Amino acid sequence: MPVVLLPTPDNLQRAAERLRAGGLVAFATETVYGLGAHALDPGAVAGIFELKGRPLFDPLIVHVSSTDRARELSAAWPDVAECLATRFWPGPLTLVLPRREVVPDLVTAGLPNVALRWPAHPVAQQLLLLADCPVAAPSANRFASISPTSAADVAAELQHDPDLWILDGGPCTHGLESTVISLVSDRPIVLRLGSLAVEDLEQELGPLTVANRSVKESELQSGLASPGHLSRHYSPRTPLRLMQAGDLDAARERQQRVGLLCFGAQANSSSAEDFAVIENLSAKGDTREAATRLYAALRLLDQAGLDLIVAVELPPQGLGRAINDRLRRASH
Ligand code: AMP
Ligand code: MG
Repeated sequence: MPVVLLPTPDNLQRAAERLRAGGLVAFATETVYGLGAHALDPGAVAGIFELKGRPLFDPLIVHVSSTDRARELSAAWPDVAECLATRFWPGPLTLVLPRREVVPDLVTAGLPNVALRWPAHPVAQQLLLLADCPVAAPSANRFASISPTSAADVAAELQHDPDLWILDGGPCTHGLESTVISLVSDRPIVLRLGSLAVEDLEQELGPLTVANRSVKESELQSGLASPGHLSRHYSPRTPLRLMQAGDLDAARERQQRVGLLCFGAQANSSSAEDFAVIENLSAKGDTREAATRLYAALRLLDQAGLDLIVAVELPPQGLGRAINDRLRRASH
């Protein structure tokens, strides 16, 4: 099993040295746990792809310790980048910008752009400051599997690497990946829904386009798409069916052990007793709380020996949109 370390000053220092030397360190961020490597060291970055079983055509987000450090990696820094960085960094927002030459092809999957984020979690921040280098870090799970929101989740996902270090920063406060916005063309485009609601971005930028494409793995190789757009992603091993709240009664499958993933008052419907297990993401109907609990609930249901997981769509406001996006891909 990997080694779980508390974020003591000593452990943070050792982990930072390991990163600088080309090793891998998984660490807490406010979104999900990341699997980090020195972003400017292609050999180190290759280790991420190997450990995750991630296809090489998937670009990685580069984590930095300040806006200035982000600017050092991007060939252009338009006003809109400054505006968003000032308003939302450090935090769960990733900016895609033209890259500088120093950023290896492996990190950007050969794209001319680099994805940058200054995370808010104190463990991530201290690690980045001590390592004093940009850190490429996708979610610390096997490719296409459920993202980890605790150190224990990472250890379970990447248990085949006994040498991996995991910096434990407690459960993630957001629990969903960062929102990714591309600033490389005339108009900003949201590439991935995530922990920062589109409505919050729109308050700064006005109405936004969301690239709501679902792509197959083969299409990713064109380099246009990104991994969060895969039609199958974030998937439990148990089959998952996504339903509208009104269709819940149709979910009765008496022969099978069915689990329910629901939200708010949905579980109070007459069909509730038909389910072997019920996970309510937020009984009080709060989409932020639901985002925090989403992946842990999927993991619990996946381990409950079910034949089927039925998930009910959330109201498509705020983080409800991002959660529905993940459930759709988990259901594929
Ligand atoms: P993950 O590392 O698994 O959280 O996923 C990385 C996400 O970052 C993808 O879903 C993309 O949306 C985005 N991304 C990373 N690098 C780039 C890039 N160079 N161009 C466009 N999107 C990117
Ligand atoms: Mg991921």
